[in-house]
Amino acid sequence: MDHSYNSIKLAHQAREADELRIEMRKRSLLILIYQHLMRQGFTATAVALDQEMNGSVKKFEVCENIDLEMVLLEYESYHYVKFQKYPKLIKKVAEPVSCQGESRPLKSGGKKRAACSAVKPLPKVQPPNLGGDSKVNASAASAAPMRANGESLSCPPDFSLSVYPIISAQAGGAPGTKKVQVTDIAGGEGDGEEERLLKPLSGFSGMSGEMKELAAVINKDIYLHNPNVRWEDIIGLEDAKRLVKESIIYPIKYPQLFTGLLSPWKGLLLFGPPGTGKTLLAKAVATECKTTFFNISASSLVSKWRGDSEKLVRVLFELARYHAPSTIFLDEVDSMMGQRGSNVLELDQGMLRRLEKRILVSLPPPSAREAMITHWLPPVNSTGEFQLKAELDYQLLAKEMKGYSGSDIRLVCKEAAMRQVRKVFEALESNQNGDAGTLTVQLETVTTQDFLEVLAHTKPSVRDVMEKHTAWEKDFKSV
Ligand code: ADP
Repeated sequence: MDHSYNSIKLAHQAREADELRIEMRKRSLLILIYQHLMRQGFTATAVALDQEMNGSVKKFEVCENIDLEMVLLEYESYHYVKFQKYPKLIKKVAEPVSCQGESRPLKSGGKKRAACSAVKPLPKVQPPNLGGDSKVNASAASAAPMRANGESLSCPPDFSLSVYPIISAQAGGAPGTKKVQVTDIAGGEGDGEEERLLKPLSGFSGMSGEMKELAAVINKDIYLHNPNVRWEDIIGLEDAKRLVKESIIYPIKYPQLFTGLLSPWKGLLLFGPPGTGKTLLAKAVATECKTTFFNISASSLVSKWRGDSEKLVRVLFELARYHAPSTIFLDEVDSMMGQRGSNVLELDQGMLRRLEKRILVSLPPPSAREAMITHWLPPVNSTGEFQLKAELDYQLLAKEMKGYSGSDIRLVCKEAAMRQVRKVFEALESNQNGDAGTLTVQLETVTTQDFLEVLAHTKPSVRDVMEKHTAWEKDFKSV
């Protein structure tokens, strides 16, 4: 082996050069991260990073045409060429089981996780929505391209009530004991569903302190989860669906068709009685376009703000632009517009100008009512492990439910199903000390008579407002 002075010196120099390169790579990576954080608006984190590195990050800048995203992109392409598939860069951390609740505050309207308890809560019965009755669904989408929407979105359960038997012969309870666990899975979306990454507010510039304060309030009302509502989940409302697609979805999907005179509508007003599917329509938009979804109740904003609505609307739209593409879902708009009289449907002229399309979402007609009852109480419903059967005169019941909103109909269907489940509870409770092992848990069939009895006790939640909406539609509709 060559042990001359020269060769030892050269080997040392090569090693030094290698170490220097490794050192430089680490430093470059941190500087690239710093720049990436700054560009994404995570300024506080970027400053902290620089401070942790004793201010050495700021002494460098990234060369032109280089950024972290591009480096990653190149790596992905390289991987694809080499292995014919894209690399998997990140994976979800297995969540530690904790009964201490969320470490992170839940955004309003966000997905609630199942309570960590052996005893599941009983089904929640949603109270009818007696709140305001007009909603704004404004698309502040800058013509940002939509991501390929190839993912299959899992269908939300048809009916929020499922009954699962747990037969715990071996584990825990006495042999042969039958327990029935009732789980409310309303709104329970599939696990592993993506959560939108939100830019930090620190990057939201050009606003006074006052405006920033308001922006922070609004920011809390951003719905981070994919609402997971598909067009097929919305029963009826064919005209409204078509108009919503035309006003919001297509301009985002096919921006080249919406230029000049055909530039997209600035905003869309969905008005009509509560519980008729306006929120569902907005959620379907957010699901399809993967937009940032602002779910805001105007009345709560007004009470927090106490200021004039002009400012409020301006910040809202600015913020939507900052998080573009966005869907603003502004509930109870009338509460913002109430300064000029008592008519709940009186909208400020300025607001009306912004809401170029105005669509009435009416109470469901007989055909939609029939489709809804069939949807929630089909002849055989096997979403849970128990079958729930129904023998219903759907046409007759639809006729009887004139004036009921979609949400009312769902509530009646749920109550009709619940009645059969209650009988199971009674049987189980009375058999507690008996020979429970021989008991077969079976739900009785829901009959037309059962349904009519429920109907006699559940009146429509909205009355007399349809005429007002129809009159307003006559004067202001724009479809
Ligand atoms: P709104 O926003 O008009 O007050 P929502 O869209 O929040 O009403 O509807 C409340 C609930 O009623 C929904 O979650 C859904 O279960 C049911 N519902 C109302 N209308 C429909 C519909 N057209 N199709 C399916 N479900 C509906």
